Amino acid sequence: MSKIGFVGLGIMGGPMAGHLVAAGHEVTGYDHSAAALDKLKAAGGNTASGAAEAVRGKDIVITMLPQDEHVESVFADVLEHADPGTLYIDFSTITPKTSRWTATEGAKKNLRVLDAPVSGGEPGAINAALSIMVGGTEADFAAAKPIFEAVGKTFELVGPNGAGQVVKAANQLIVGGTYALVAEAILLMENLGADAAKGLDVLAGGLAGSKILELKRKTMLERSFVPGFRIDLHHKDMGIILAAARDAEVAIPMGALTAQLIAAARAMGYGNLDHSGLLLVAEALSKRDDA
Ligand code: NAD
Repeated sequence: MSKIGFVGLGIMGGPMAGHLVAAGHEVTGYDHSAAALDKLKAAGGNTASGAAEAVRGKDIVITMLPQDEHVESVFADVLEHADPGTLYIDFSTITPKTSRWTATEGAKKNLRVLDAPVSGGEPGAINAALSIMVGGTEADFAAAKPIFEAVGKTFELVGPNGAGQVVKAANQLIVGGTYALVAEAILLMENLGADAAKGLDVLAGGLAGSKILELKRKTMLERSFVPGFRIDLHHKDMGIILAAARDAEVAIPMGALTAQLIAAARAMGYGNLDHSGLLLVAEALSKRDDA
């Protein structure tokens, strides 16, 4: 069993830290939010008064933070306070560039670094059923296996440092684009006299079928957009995707269009809705004055 420092105990990090406590690890957590710290305490974990304290003297340090800037700031504490040899696992979704930077800077201090963004959302975190895409070395991946087993169901080493973030970007590209097209398909059926509910049932069983059709077709038809995964976070992820594509000099026109639709959703005040709320943007684009 390991001594673990865990920084970022929000929607995802909170339940994940709880699973690590339940698996028998000694977990010391830190978050800016007092409520998040209370939850970890109730789950049997220890709490720290700052990131430096959470990081000091641990075998493994974990972060689950919103964006690059948060990871950069907490990683400064990791560089300063973690013991040489510490395994650092970042579960946050950030740019591949920042993940590679943590690996390069970490190596200078003899830290072992993995980027390990996740998919599966809040239910995946609560049920320890996350899919985890990992970038780093074979040896560090093997050392992190007990952690991945405690919080996830599927995990793969997908390449060197940063590759986990690249695969997560690909995930978000497909998810965002699929929502945009499902939204247009719904409007098409609804406006041309077809039974959209029955239509989506049929589509879900054919080549157009997807996890999104399986899980979200009912709530989309009902116009219920309770998150889930917020449009604001997907907007952040589209920024990561576009920057990564630019770095790689790969053209992603479909991704660029999806990013604009998600940006529009945000500008229309839907940032806190589930990303299936892209349907509201599709509707607004076809709204007629005579309707
Ligand atoms: P969240 O906002 O619920 O949690 C982030 C936590 O980090 C907050 O509790 C915040 O107080 C804390 N925090 C921020 N800066 C800090 C600092 N410097 N020191 C200590 N604590 C700090 O976000 P979340 O939904 O848990 O998402 C975390 C990451 O996981 C994001 O990168 C997100 O894109 C990714 N993700 C989220 C989901 C989802 O469905 N929510 C799914 C997959 C991946």
